[in-house]
Amino acid sequence: MALTDETSETTDTTSPTSPTSPTSPTSPTSPASATGPAPAVGSHAGDTASGIAAAPGPVAAGPLPHLALARPSLDRVADERRRPDVLAALLADPATRVAELRGDRLEVTSEGADGDGGLALVLRAPEPADPARLALHLGRGPDGTAYVGVVGDEPDDEGEDAADGGAGVRRWLALRQAGETLGPLDAGIFTTVLALANWHATHAHCPRCGSVTTPTQAGWVRRCERDGTEHYPRTDPAVIMSVVDPDDRLLIGRGAHWPEGRFSVLAGFVEPGESFEAAVAREVAEEVGIAVHDVRYLGNQPWPFPSSAMIGFAARTTETELTLDPLEMAEARWVTRAEYRAALRDGSVRTPSGISIAKRIIEHWLGETVESAAAVPDGRRH
Ligand SMILES: [Zn+2]
Repeated sequence: MALTDETSETTDTTSPTSPTSPTSPTSPTSPASATGPAPAVGSHAGDTASGIAAAPGPVAAGPLPHLALARPSLDRVADERRRPDVLAALLADPATRVAELRGDRLEVTSEGADGDGGLALVLRAPEPADPARLALHLGRGPDGTAYVGVVGDEPDDEGEDAADGGAGVRRWLALRQAGETLGPLDAGIFTTVLALANWHATHAHCPRCGSVTTPTQAGWVRRCERDGTEHYPRTDPAVIMSVVDPDDRLLIGRGAHWPEGRFSVLAGFVEPGESFEAAVAREVAEEVGIAVHDVRYLGNQPWPFPSSAMIGFAARTTETELTLDPLEMAEARWVTRAEYRAALRDGSVRTPSGISIAKRIIEHWLGETVESAAAVPDGRRH
């Protein structure tokens, strides 16, 4: 099964997965005072998580380490979830840091970010309204700070900016917009709260009997009120793969419903009863009609749009004659590195988004970043 537009890594920020149109990090939008209360001020308000180093943890192995959404982040403290009062206790503790999700957005600021031009999440102390909201115990930072996600109201408009009173400007951004410039801890907080909230939003009823389910275990389980069955957050694996021919040309394709010029590598959902490698071979055969071999793992990252994990591979083929599935592919072609660079420069090919593993897979083949490949070489500058 091919990826839907909703899940596609190459769906840009204008995709229907964003409930509102995108706000670029520099675009002016209305001040928060016009659409709601200004951010709280006080000793616990407006903290940013990025000042704290990410927790030491497993780093994704393979040729694509440090993917934007797969960096070391929270200690998930799964043992704490089983305490029935844990969320009430955390939401009564002013030291708890709360990430309030509105729609698919969190508030970010350029102040206090760790890194040039970076962003940091704006986290706050618990509010009296929080216990009535869907709350999720996300985990703890390296200093023991507890992070709780709450699902707030949908945003009123496409962005509520507010001057920080200092150097930073606050904005409500989606993960696709902010993920690349957040620090590791913040990116993990955003990815986790979004993935969990997406699951809750679509699993209000028991798949066995249809009765209402209610959150338990600090937001990590839903239990059926009628038959007591427990239901866990789901993650849907999808494979995404570079395919190169004997001349080391890369196969790029444009999905059936993608705009002109948007090209990526192929991808698709893993089916029941199938290994990841078998899914790679099947998807390539279905979409462009060629057989691949030498399927090698590259890396993976969560992809909560709404609930995927993307597992990246590189594959080879000896077949170059493409037969497209018209239901899934609008066009596909082989490109040399020189042709790909030229297409980036003349704008005839646009790359997948910055946080996507697709972009990193293409760069792995290209041997440089897309940004450097798109730049005019020094020798050709006028
Ligand atoms: Zn039930």
